[in-house]
Amino acid sequence: MADLFIKDALLPDGTTTSLRISDGLVASLGGSAHKDDVLLDAGGALLLPAMVEAHAHLDKAFLAETVLNPSGDLMGAIMAMDAAQANITQPDIEARAERAARLIARNGATAIRTHADVTKETGLTSVAALLAVRERLRDLVHIEVFALTGFPSIGSEGADHRALLRDAIAMGVDGIGGCPHLESDPHAANEMFLAAAADARLPLDLHVDETLDPTRFALADLAERVIASGFSQRVAASHCVSLVMQSPSVQAQISDRIAEAGITVIALPSSNLFLQGRDHGVATPRAITAIAPLRAAGVNVAAGADNLQDPFNPVGRGDCLETASLMVMVGHLLPDDSYCTVSSAARTAMGLPIAGTGVGMAADLVLLSANTTREAIAFAPPDRTVIRAGVVQAL
Ligand SMILES: [Zn+2]
Repeated sequence: MADLFIKDALLPDGTTTSLRISDGLVASLGGSAHKDDVLLDAGGALLLPAMVEAHAHLDKAFLAETVLNPSGDLMGAIMAMDAAQANITQPDIEARAERAARLIARNGATAIRTHADVTKETGLTSVAALLAVRERLRDLVHIEVFALTGFPSIGSEGADHRALLRDAIAMGVDGIGGCPHLESDPHAANEMFLAAAADARLPLDLHVDETLDPTRFALADLAERVIASGFSQRVAASHCVSLVMQSPSVQAQISDRIAEAGITVIALPSSNLFLQGRDHGVATPRAITAIAPLRAAGVNVAAGADNLQDPFNPVGRGDCLETASLMVMVGHLLPDDSYCTVSSAARTAMGLPIAGTGVGMAADLVLLSANTTREAIAFAPPDRTVIRAGVVQAL
């Protein structure tokens, strides 16, 4: 494969340089183009590490008009989806998921982790559809499909969902997920999901404590079980909203254990802000996990968009820069740190090599018209050139 030579690119540190990309990696900075190179003239545009959508539900994308959630809360969205499943077909899921994945990729993401509903209502339709989209778009964007096991998944009532999860694993999902906070015993659910993931040798990404109820501690329980069991696969805990309702000392104590367990926390500001806090009429809490104490403890904190124009979030534009902007405004991160939550931290969560403009880094990059990372987040310029593994993508 010919080298890619990117000419006249502005780096986040303010310097302008050229880069040689060879075999998917940044080979050198500076120098000049060779006659066999593929040439990309950046024209002074900003070159950033590509973004990653760490938490999506591609199977539900663009259902906002057809599946309504009048109450606007989490259970309203879940019940609306369950009631609508009979009318949702595999071709429909594939079409909407592909549209969403292409949009997210065109906006600068080279990898997407999507959850796929595995419930008695959906059966394995979402899994089949998203695995098909994963294969169809293989050359455009890396997609991971995680089985989102329905509840109940524990005890005798959970047998059907556990059987569906086993079928999803056999179909070739990339990881296991579920919603312990919706189960009658979230801690028992943590145990079941860890055991299932250990058996299947797959990573785990659970929807954890997606609630402002301060009595919920499934995140702390998950950390203890990961540490005690020596679970060796990657673990992510998505949402983790109730952590923000704890006292600073409890937040710090739990964060230390999350760090020790090596769990990535994936913050999901947009859907949490939409769904949570509706019963707090006064001084409504910011429904986002406790980012500062997690980061202070050394936890890898990534961020995702979660839902895209569906009953869980009627808005969203399929752009990781939108999530980065929310991480500045709601998560109180500085812009550069915020960008990391939708790039390097998300890649770490997915076990992908770090991307960037340093020599030896993976050449997953995005070129956009901005002078700084902060300005890129602020303006979210629409025209972006996406480079994946050293190849300019036609999206
Ligand atoms: Zn989710």
